[in-house]
Amino acid sequence: MQYRIGIGYDIHKLVRGRKLFIGGLLIDYPRGLLGHSDGDVLLHAICDCLLGAVSEGDIGMHFPDTEPKFEGIASTELLIKVYELIKDKGYAINNIDTVIIAEEPKLASYKKEIRKNIALILGIKEDLISIKAKTNEKLGEIGKKEAIAAYATVLLVKGE
Ligand code: ZN
Repeated sequence: MQYRIGIGYDIHKLVRGRKLFIGGLLIDYPRGLLGHSDGDVLLHAICDCLLGAVSEGDIGMHFPDTEPKFEGIASTELLIKVYELIKDKGYAINNIDTVIIAEEPKLASYKKEIRKNIALILGIKEDLISIKAKTNEKLGEIGKKEAIAAYATVLLVKGE
């Protein structure tokens, strides 16, 4: 058995006139995350932890924001592409742990659905995925509701 761990982090600015996507889920909120894609901060952090685990750089390297073809792309598509790369290298996901940091909206009621959605995208069991959400205790840009950040870690296992 061969194990690989990876860590991912992302942050996006909250702005008016955008829809809010977190974990591939449309969240009811008057603002959304600014980005070249849909700005899904959680899926980007998960992509980065997966890429990091196999030493394949990061999401910006694979899907540069200078490429018009990635403009407005659903981050679920990016995650599917990244997961294909992981599987091609012979790895499977042992488990994923995540933290979303948002002062607003309150994500407690969305956590279960986000987990279910990511499990569906990856085609793995829900109990292999952990979604945690917390505020930034009103500190900094996140605390002032100007941004949302996310961390993700993964353990990959080879073969089986
Ligand atoms: Zn991002």
